[in-house]
Amino acid sequence: MTDRLIRPSIAALRPYVPGKPIEEVERELGLTNLVKLASNENCLGPSPRAVEAVRAAAPAAWLYPDAACFALKRSLSEFHALPPDHFTLGTGSDEILHLISLAFFNPGDEVAFGDPSFVVYESAAALMGCVPVKVPLRAFTHDLAAMRTAITERTKCVFIANPNNPTGTMNTADEVERFLDGLPEHVIVVMDEAYHEYVERIDYPLTLRYVREGRNVVVLRTFSKIYALAGLRVGYGMARPELSKWLNAVREPFNVNSLAQVAAIASLHDAEQVTRTRAMNSAGKAWLYRKLERLGLPFVPTEANFLLIEVGRDSNAVFQALLRKGVIVRTGDLFGLPTYIRVTIGTEDMNRRFIHALELALGEVTEGTIA
Ligand SMILES: *Cc1c(COP(=O)(O)O)cnc(C)c1O
Repeated sequence: MTDRLIRPSIAALRPYVPGKPIEEVERELGLTNLVKLASNENCLGPSPRAVEAVRAAAPAAWLYPDAACFALKRSLSEFHALPPDHFTLGTGSDEILHLISLAFFNPGDEVAFGDPSFVVYESAAALMGCVPVKVPLRAFTHDLAAMRTAITERTKCVFIANPNNPTGTMNTADEVERFLDGLPEHVIVVMDEAYHEYVERIDYPLTLRYVREGRNVVVLRTFSKIYALAGLRVGYGMARPELSKWLNAVREPFNVNSLAQVAAIASLHDAEQVTRTRAMNSAGKAWLYRKLERLGLPFVPTEANFLLIEVGRDSNAVFQALLRKGVIVRTGDLFGLPTYIRVTIGTEDMNRRFIHALELALGEVTEGTIA
């Protein structure tokens, strides 16, 4: 009966599968001292300045937050040298994806994104009854030429995660330039740059340029990843005022809570924390590459803080075996890659524990099997 109450586009949605929380695994398996490498969080934790700011702001939590996020917008405006009217703040950048859908999508519009890419793009499209257009990756990377070919009269939006999740691959400045060159005006391009701060390659595109030029480009950033505030939920979009005006129009007034606002401001002012994290990630990446090569496991070179590894076996079985050893990762079957796992690059100690557990897990799970 309830099936008839639900909109068909929503009924077709698969629920989001989050990374397993530490507490849940501890309860289920009776383990302690777990390592969670499933959701690409920054294992160093937030800036001490952010923690202090939250502590200082907590007694005022009885007051509604600043609905306009005035101080945070001003900080971001200075940080990016972009006027405040270009910003939309959200409960994580996930919310901005939904605001884009609410503000701009009509039922039947085509919405294009890579396959596999970030799962929220599909739910953002479904939210307004749009037609998802999935463009297969090439060599684990967004095929921007194919995405360009996929654009029709009815295309409203293209979502591009750069670096991409779950592959960690990057599209270059040249590729993005070619993609945007002569793109029809009826298409909004969303550059989702959740892992922007981790990128090491110098040919990474500086997409704010396109926002400044007045193109239909929305650049998304988040405080969940390198700034290590995933639990507080704050992210933002940058777009020309004619677009951001409407994103703000569909936003709930108090969507970013007061503790998140002060923590985000404090984090922006702690460049050292970002530098420390980048250094940890870079070293961890190099170490993991060496270990995986020694184990003979192929992986996709990453520009983010996670790694897609081909385990050559049923990823769910490997996931379960790792779980029993206290390490939580992501299975590739969620992304249509049933013999891959995705692991967050952690601290030196966490990476060691992961590799140790992986060696044991590979011994337990027979090669070539898919459940
Ligand atoms: C983690 C992530 C986000 C956003 O996370 P929020 O916590 O909602 O800000 C957005 N896009 C990609 C590709 C991500 O991996």
